Amino acid sequence: MRLLVLSLVVLVVGPSTVPAEPSSASGALTETSENFHVRSYGGGPSAADVLKNCEALRAQCRHTWFPTEQERTWRPLCTVVLHASRASYLQAVGRGGAQTSGSSLVRFDGDRVATRRIDLLVVRAGQTSALAHELTHVVLADRFGARCPPRWLDEGIATLADAAAKQSLHERDFRRALHGGAALRLVDLLRLEQFTSAEQVPAFYGQSLSLVRFLAERDEPAKIVDFAAAATVEGYDRALQKHYGIHDVAALESRWREYADSRRKAPAEQPIVAVGYRP
Ligand SMILES: [Zn+2]
Repeated sequence: MRLLVLSLVVLVVGPSTVPAEPSSASGALTETSENFHVRSYGGGPSAADVLKNCEALRAQCRHTWFPTEQERTWRPLCTVVLHASRASYLQAVGRGGAQTSGSSLVRFDGDRVATRRIDLLVVRAGQTSALAHELTHVVLADRFGARCPPRWLDEGIATLADAAAKQSLHERDFRRALHGGAALRLVDLLRLEQFTSAEQVPAFYGQSLSLVRFLAERDEPAKIVDFAAAATVEGYDRALQKHYGIHDVAALESRWREYADSRRKAPAEQPIVAVGYRP
């Protein structure tokens, strides 16, 4: 789930000065590092462990997708809130998150980020399985600023950080959409920002993941972000020619379909982009 909000309201979310509180089961309930402030709950996951994981994921995500960008410490910090129950989670993220276990929010005040926040529902045995996906959204927002990354890129890259089992479900959805006729044309996938039907959702996630994987296997993964950033300024055809030597969106679509077909025939032999986000 992604919420990217442009706002003129100045929200002051600065480094936390809240002292660590004792927890009965897993150390302090709140912990703060260079870029994050984590809030857990009594008996919940260790805030210190989650914090360490957040910093490692952030560094790896930046290294994979924009390794040459200058490092800038996050101010405001990214607040990560762990929820013990769905009721608490939904109270924080709203009813739109009913089908999700993670949500990220990046709010801008002009070009400046005013809020970074991730809410995670702890699903079972202390697992915060949506952390890598949601954190990827927050990291990507740095690269695009208030212009927002194209949604296919944002979700495709974030989905690459999901567990392998979840990625397999998206790939299944992609194949079903292709063969069932629900697949979006590439030109529509590239510009989709709001869903207009329920059946678009699985097709969109599956196709976005497949497209990002295709481009990441074709060249340096970081090139995708440069390509998408250029496309938001000069259009997809020019950006494709410049970054991938592909003539236009139609040519990309035909190469991508060939790639998807080859993966279907020999999925076990195809390399998968190794984005080692997971702890
Ligand atoms: Zn997402």
